[in-house]
Amino acid sequence: MQCSPARLRAVPPALTVKPRLVRHLLLTVLMLVLMLGCGYAGYHLSKAFGIRALAENGERQLELNARAVESEITKYTYLPSLLELNDDVRRLLQTPSAYRRQRVNDYLEGLNGRSGSLATYVLDTSGRVLATSNWREPSSFLGEDLSFRAYFQDAVQGKPGRFYGIGSTTGEPGYYLAHGLKSNGRIIGVAVVKVRLDSLEQRWQRARLEAYVSDENGIIILSSDPARRLKAVHPLGPNTRERLARSLQYHWWALEELQPLARRALGDGIEQVSFAATRAAGQAPEAIDYLAQTRPLDDTPWHLTLLTPLQDQHRAAMSHAILAAVALALLAFLLIAWNERRKVIATRLAAREALEQANNELERKITERTADLQASNQRLQAEVRERQQAETTLRQAQDELVQAGKLAVIGQMSTSIAHELNQPLAALRTLSGNTVRFLQRGALDVASSNLQTINELVDRMGKITGSLRAFARRSDAGGEASLNQAVDAALLLLQPRQGQRALQIHRDYLHEQADTRLAIDQIRLEQILVNLIANALDAMGEQEDRQLWLSGRDEGARYLLTVRDNGPGIAPDARVHLFEPFFTTKPGEKGLGLGLTLSASLAAAASGSLTVQHPESGGTAFELSLPKPAPHRETSAHE
Ligand code: ADP
Repeated sequence: MQCSPARLRAVPPALTVKPRLVRHLLLTVLMLVLMLGCGYAGYHLSKAFGIRALAENGERQLELNARAVESEITKYTYLPSLLELNDDVRRLLQTPSAYRRQRVNDYLEGLNGRSGSLATYVLDTSGRVLATSNWREPSSFLGEDLSFRAYFQDAVQGKPGRFYGIGSTTGEPGYYLAHGLKSNGRIIGVAVVKVRLDSLEQRWQRARLEAYVSDENGIIILSSDPARRLKAVHPLGPNTRERLARSLQYHWWALEELQPLARRALGDGIEQVSFAATRAAGQAPEAIDYLAQTRPLDDTPWHLTLLTPLQDQHRAAMSHAILAAVALALLAFLLIAWNERRKVIATRLAAREALEQANNELERKITERTADLQASNQRLQAEVRERQQAETTLRQAQDELVQAGKLAVIGQMSTSIAHELNQPLAALRTLSGNTVRFLQRGALDVASSNLQTINELVDRMGKITGSLRAFARRSDAGGEASLNQAVDAALLLLQPRQGQRALQIHRDYLHEQADTRLAIDQIRLEQILVNLIANALDAMGEQEDRQLWLSGRDEGARYLLTVRDNGPGIAPDARVHLFEPFFTTKPGEKGLGLGLTLSASLAAAASGSLTVQHPESGGTAFELSLPKPAPHRETSAHE
């Protein structure tokens, strides 16, 4: 599949999110979630364990307090039955009279004072109060009909009458204990003792204990908090409400329900409830959680409920939650730090390993390269030796070639040279013959003039052979040459080839009549010039107008000599082959095709060059560029 370039285009930098940043963000979020989770779990665990511990402790407290409540109640149970033993009471019940009533009133007053109860009184079987300990008080209920009271109804039937209620006359709450008084196995009346139980409440308040006792109707009759007193712990049905109202058990109390803000059962007799705390007016109610533990009280239909505040537990759970979250964070940080350290160590180890590997690899490569270099060095040395040998061979071959070239030129010129020598020889022969005859005749003037001419001819022949000998001599690389001498020698050597036609030679290289010195062997320079001038002469042949320009130009460290003719020039297809060995356009033995090749190689051997130009005006121009010799030192110039 091929992706279009547009699809491969990089996302703009602003939109790219570095993966490292994303990882860190995710890690932070994960950490926060874990911390919250751990805190939440810590909170609930701590709370569960705390509640369990509180419940165990509460169980003991409940037991202790239940026993205290039971003993407080049972303390008075014997009291009403005691009245059965009193004869005055019995007589009053059997045959009531004012005198007997007063006696019993006095007795009950004394008894009540000693037992610390609220009131002690005796009722006949119809429920009317016959005598009472509070007969002196205005709120006395002497003569009142209390047959509606449940404790009377129970006691008159021979059952123990237990009743908590609010006095219908006094409006004072109390615990009523009633006992059916018997005579000869028959119930003749009912004795009632009303006791106060608020000492229990005071004891709870002093001990900062929150507790309440609910009676058989579910009405709180005793409470450490007065606000909860006479409230129903569970909803009361309309029938119950009506029954209770009729019995006046709680006088005219509204019997509101004790409404917890929340309630949650935790087990048998244990629940978690929250009540609104009483606060100053205008302030929102604050919910306080309690652990409510309830237990029935022995010998009564009542229940004792102990309320243990869970505030401390909440606080402890909260601190445990924070501790758990912090511990987790610490652990996570330790883990992250450990992981980072592990990564750093791993990276370092990997880097060290990679370094070692790279080092080994490098050493291996160095060894290989060294071996390679040694091999190539040996190869190069061998090559250098070969090259040196080849150069020596080449130089020898070049020398041989130069020599051969020179000999070839001489060979080419041999006919002309022979012709050139034959002419003076023939002249010499004629002149010598004539001279002999003139001497015989005594014409000494003519003879001496002939001898003069003979001398000149011999000189000329000597010059020709001398220059030939000099040209044929072996030459060396290096050395210094005089340009004037070289041109003269070349022209002299080529004189026999100059032909019959007029030849105009322009010598423009002379510089203020001073000789020009060039850094090349004299013979070699002559040979180059012989080749170039001979080619020019050959090209011009027997044409009418023959011009040869020898012009020079000083170019600083070098000197440029141009040999130009006004011959026919060189054909374009021949131009590229000019400097190739054995390229010639000359017929038969006239051309060898080595002249330009040799000349160029002689110029190059002297660090010079030979190039060809084809002027638009016609003819051919060869440019010979040669270095000038290094200037002589001042001292040597004076010597
Ligand atoms: P050769 O003279 O033996 O032929 P050269 O190497 O000296 O060998 O010259 C090669 C050829 O270059 C000649 O045959 C000739 O055709 C051409 N040539 C050289 N110089 C000139 C010139 N001045 N004018 C025209 N042609 C030339």
